[in-house]
Amino acid sequence: MRTPREELQQLEEAALRRQLRTIEAIEGTEICENGSWYTNFGSNDYLGLSQHPLVKEAFERGVQEWGVGAGASRLVTGSLGAHDQLETWLAEAKGSEAALSFANGYSTALGVVSGLVGKEDVVILDKLCHASLIDGARLSGAKIRVFGHNRIDQLETILTQVAAKRCAAQRVLVLTESVFSMDGDYARLEDIVALKERYEFVLMVDEAHGVGVLGHKGLGLVEQLGLSESVDIQMGTLGKAAGVAGGYICASRDYIDLFTNRARSLIYSSAPPPAQALAALAALRLMSSDAGAERREALWENIACFKDHAQLNKVPSSAIIPWHVGESTQALELQDKLKTSGFFCPAIRYPTVPRNTARLRITITSQHSGEAIQAFAQKLLTLRAEERDED
Ligand SMILES: *Cc1c(COP(=O)(O)O)cnc(C)c1O
Repeated sequence: MRTPREELQQLEEAALRRQLRTIEAIEGTEICENGSWYTNFGSNDYLGLSQHPLVKEAFERGVQEWGVGAGASRLVTGSLGAHDQLETWLAEAKGSEAALSFANGYSTALGVVSGLVGKEDVVILDKLCHASLIDGARLSGAKIRVFGHNRIDQLETILTQVAAKRCAAQRVLVLTESVFSMDGDYARLEDIVALKERYEFVLMVDEAHGVGVLGHKGLGLVEQLGLSESVDIQMGTLGKAAGVAGGYICASRDYIDLFTNRARSLIYSSAPPPAQALAALAALRLMSSDAGAERREALWENIACFKDHAQLNKVPSSAIIPWHVGESTQALELQDKLKTSGFFCPAIRYPTVPRNTARLRITITSQHSGEAIQAFAQKLLTLRAEERDED
């Protein structure tokens, strides 16, 4: 039998071993590790809401009002007014009949995908879909088909094949992210929606990195494109731009009622703390208010500033900017060199991204200063130039 140590050794040799790093303190965009401070270019807290006074206050008030834990699963006695308020707000804001919230985005994907499709059904995913969606698909036992990233032609081919030998009750689920988590580019949602005229399928869109960043009210790409009528299930997390924790889906009343019966991650798990729901609600309200719009404006200015100074002419239109490296060892070296200069930016390796596509995943927030962004971009360019000289 192989030992854990042997397995870890193999990961180490492939430069794929991961380790937890403890952040000892946080001050705005600065993080402290081992007594040293770094400007953080790795957080998904795009609008800085995790530190916002109103969000913190809502969390504290939630604890005073409800206590700390929910005490039971949602279907027993854990479904509290706090969860209800969050779901009512989400449904209304997203233009759907109803909403359902979960402890986090991962358990949302797991419960919803495996609750929606089973052995007789088909799930079709974009190749770059997040692990949570893939895991949900695997857990469901449904037949899994994958189309190349944003390859609508391939998606259509698969839909044609599936339609050709399909029985009436079979469900076909098409899954994509709106803003892709490791590349920062967008799904071609309008093209996918157009396919609904010719093929019958359920469309689910994960807005993990669209919410807070895109849309007039910061509700995501579906809002920005005015597609909420055509996307059957809008999914998101409350742990990224919302700055708290949690996950949700917005859909028709029937789907929500179905997931209340079928999503095992909801049914067999204690409800998340009510204060978490209230803090997330405060964050969402902020996000869609004028104050949120101001932070979003600052965010986009910062993205443009980074793009300018890093000499990136073709940059994905989101807060996520991949800095391509290739080899895992090189990505780790670059991460270390940046740390020496006071910047933290995570190296992303296989299996989070395909083999030989290791990269830095740069995330920009509204809270970064222009000076920090310029210095960081400058450092990246200097390190790249040094690398080229060595080659
Ligand atoms: C982070 C992420 C999730 C999971 O959300 P959590 O709330 O962090 O569990 C799901 N989908 C995508 C695309 C993500 O990036």
